[in-house]
Amino acid sequence: MSIKGVIERYKEYLPVTEKTPIITLCEGNTPLVRADFLEKMLNLKAKVYLKFEGQNPTGSFKDRGMTVAVSKAKEEGMQAVMCASTGNTSASASAYAARAGMKSFVVIPEGNIALGKLAQALIHGATVIAINGNFDEALKLVREITDEYPVALVNSINPYRIEGQKSGSFEICDDLGCAPDYHFIPVGNAGNITAYWKGYKEYKDAGKISNLPKMMGFQAAGACPIVEGRIFEHPETIATAIRIGNPASWKMAEAARDESGGMIDKVTDDEIVEAYKILAKKIGVFCEPASAASVAGLIKTLNLGYFNKEDNGKEIKIVCILTGHGLKDPDRAIKIIERPQPVDADKNAILKIMGY
Ligand SMILES: *Cc1c(COP(=O)(O)O)cnc(C)c1O
Repeated sequence: MSIKGVIERYKEYLPVTEKTPIITLCEGNTPLVRADFLEKMLNLKAKVYLKFEGQNPTGSFKDRGMTVAVSKAKEEGMQAVMCASTGNTSASASAYAARAGMKSFVVIPEGNIALGKLAQALIHGATVIAINGNFDEALKLVREITDEYPVALVNSINPYRIEGQKSGSFEICDDLGCAPDYHFIPVGNAGNITAYWKGYKEYKDAGKISNLPKMMGFQAAGACPIVEGRIFEHPETIATAIRIGNPASWKMAEAARDESGGMIDKVTDDEIVEAYKILAKKIGVFCEPASAASVAGLIKTLNLGYFNKEDNGKEIKIVCILTGHGLKDPDRAIKIIERPQPVDADKNAILKIMGY
């Protein structure tokens, strides 16, 4: 067990000095859960692991980057942080700002943010500004404002975010004793795929691992600009955390794909929901819909025969990143599984439902 956060565990790989105040909530060190059910279901000669980032302090991987971004903002004497957000960035930014004694401003697309995430930003004391516009418009405005005012931008275009998030790869390699062969990950603004790839390469350069994974990124079919090579003006998907039409780290994501020999593909909302249900019902892990895109991607790729072609017979290691916690978006779960209708407070009525 570790009581250290990401900065203390991996400071030799991070842009921090003795003078950096460490603003931490003991993020990182998240579980790598073996998903044997998926291995059997998919008839795979592989070990499949789920990196459950929902176990971070605010319930998503954003905390890994936020600890570094907010620590550096504090070091630079900033009084406030600001972000555009589909939800989790604002939840994380507001918590770390509270921890640092700084103000936070978050701009969200009206109506398209999961309730749990909004609650987090509000209770941590952020000034929440909802706009009649989508994430991409929110980010453009935040960039303009933070260019002009002494407010630190903490979206993943802030390089400190990427630096912190690469700790996810270090943990996977430390746990497995090597890098996985395949790394499945949801792609929205594309900061995380960029960060993981950077982390694997740095660990290899440091001699900690000898192999590199293929990076397998998945966008939602209604918001897949990288897959189709065009900006989506009106991105649509139930996976709100990846509902992004013009990713800030587009080029970097393509570089991760091409350098690693991986792919960036799309999965439909139905495929996402299917994976979301399997994870919860058969594996016991409740992630948010966007997170399930990685596992939906694994199922899709397998059905296309990808692994059979590439890895005939050889045992491989696959890691799927589950980016955030299911409790962030309880409405989605309750919409998919019907809410129970009340019955009389009667033993027989209950037994009947139990099937006895
Ligand atoms: C932010 C987020 C993503 C997308 O990550 P990017 O770095 O924007 O590609 C995916 N899932 C969840 C839960 C997120 O919060």
